[in-house]
Amino acid sequence: MTKAHRYGIRPKNPGAHLFEVRLLVASPDPAGQVFAIPAWIPGSYMIRDYAKHVVTIRAESDGKAVALRKIDKSSWQAEPSDRALTLIADIYAFDDSVRGAHLDTTHGYFNGSCVFPSVVGQEDLQCLLEIQPPPGDSDASEWRVATSMQRQDARPYGFGVYCAADYAELIDHPVEMGQLAIAEFDVRGIPHAIAIRGRTRVDTARLCHDLQALCKHHMQMFGPPADLDRYLFLLHAPGSGYGGLEHRWSSSLVCARDNLPQRGETEVSDGYRTFLGLASHEYFHLWNIKRLKPAVFTPYNLATETYTSLLWVFEGITSYYDDLALVRSGRISDASYCELLGRTITRVLRGAGRTHQSVAESSFDAWTKFYQQDANAPNSIVSYYAKGALIALTLDLKLRSETDGRISLDDVMRACWDRWGDNSDGMPEDGFEKVCAEVASIDFDDFFDAAVRGTGELPLQAMLATHGVEYHLRRATKRSDKGGKAARDDQPEPRWLGAKLGESQGKLVFASVDNGGPAEDAGVAPGDVAVALDGLTLTARNCDRRLRSYRAGDDLELVVFRGDQLITTSIRLADGPSNTCYLQLDEHADAATVASRDSWLHPS
Ligand code: ZN
Repeated sequence: MTKAHRYGIRPKNPGAHLFEVRLLVASPDPAGQVFAIPAWIPGSYMIRDYAKHVVTIRAESDGKAVALRKIDKSSWQAEPSDRALTLIADIYAFDDSVRGAHLDTTHGYFNGSCVFPSVVGQEDLQCLLEIQPPPGDSDASEWRVATSMQRQDARPYGFGVYCAADYAELIDHPVEMGQLAIAEFDVRGIPHAIAIRGRTRVDTARLCHDLQALCKHHMQMFGPPADLDRYLFLLHAPGSGYGGLEHRWSSSLVCARDNLPQRGETEVSDGYRTFLGLASHEYFHLWNIKRLKPAVFTPYNLATETYTSLLWVFEGITSYYDDLALVRSGRISDASYCELLGRTITRVLRGAGRTHQSVAESSFDAWTKFYQQDANAPNSIVSYYAKGALIALTLDLKLRSETDGRISLDDVMRACWDRWGDNSDGMPEDGFEKVCAEVASIDFDDFFDAAVRGTGELPLQAMLATHGVEYHLRRATKRSDKGGKAARDDQPEPRWLGAKLGESQGKLVFASVDNGGPAEDAGVAPGDVAVALDGLTLTARNCDRRLRSYRAGDDLELVVFRGDQLITTSIRLADGPSNTCYLQLDEHADAATVASRDSWLHPS
């Protein structure tokens, strides 16, 4: 019988951010075992070349050195050997994101993709992982370990030996170690936990109560996956930040500390709603992308880019259901949900990129475009998350309208889950559209051609009207206005420059310049630092106020710095486009319309 691969990881030098990784291979390839570190991590579609963080690497057998040769940017080959082989590597870990590995004197976190070489050709073998504590016994004596990996020889939340069925599973369990706040709850009898890193005074009881309701809601939609016997939310709560990455039995979340509910609070703040939306999103992925996958991801090829036009299905539809679950599970009101939807619509409307790139193209080119956005991104690309969510919304309401409420997107998603949910070859590129047509017995070709492969406008206003929601557009009221809410009409709108402005080191900077807008006409470029408008200083603090004092059509002198060069130009201010959306519940809707709205937002 072939033995399991034995991996070990220890925080060798937290001050220098070095993990030591060891890997014992019982039966290496006699022709010379190859080891490879992934170039990317599932869920984040960009080549990151994690092997670049390897500081030293060597191999030995029976205590004697074995030659190791680097064969490409991510792989090494050991000299031929028929004896057990140990690989030993020091890996620099200072990327404090959900996609990275990070070690300092306060904690350690890693994704297996960043630190564990695979044994090429033996990836299907079981992997044991010994997680060791950091050296010394000072603060680290209170460190605990949080991971969804199965314990083999370790106490709950303890250091020790964990086990994964194969390499793919080994790298799908991120591990957090440090001083953690841990709370547990169960969903349909399945143990769930949340482990929080960071100084927080969070109301964990409320957090668990809300997460439980959300998880239960998603669980009701699909039913629990057969292999879901535990689930863990790993949460990092720094002063600011936002992000998430899905895994099969867990997710890694980053959310600003102040977004979490504090003891004594009862309102759902904007920030807490954002956090719940994030947790809801990653949990929905446990079905949609972690088990139901595009065919090209079965299995993942982590050495190079893998192209699919379906990210809008896996990220866009997930983005639709993340917020929808908040209202359906009773966490937020109908009006609050309308506000969120309005913001998503605003995000899409404000980017001219939607007129150039379809969501199918955006999915396909995620590697070099969505994940590598430059200052021109708003003009050239569309988010398969945001527009994907709006396609899902339109499709859901269209299905409901055209089948008299018999069929909804829920039914299509369940049908996809039944067909490709697990242990299958995954969803082919045309799979989603075919299932949709089959389930509803309606031909949706024209809709998908226009919405998914085309760049026209979605019939959102008409579709929302059939479900008792009014769609309104207005101009932005101030630079931070994200849309969603109706404008307060007591404040005049600032005149429009046609650029996104940001503050950097106390300076007002043109972050991006809209195609066809006044700033572009004036020759302003991304990165320019605003100095003066109409002979008076222009700053982040006075910008909105200054822009309110002029009229559309006024020609003004604008002075900017481009690098160290002072540039004086003339800009003609305009009224901004009406591309800020807000939605309102139609108070005059008839009973049938209200019933459709209720069956959409509150299905029984
Ligand atoms: Zn996602």
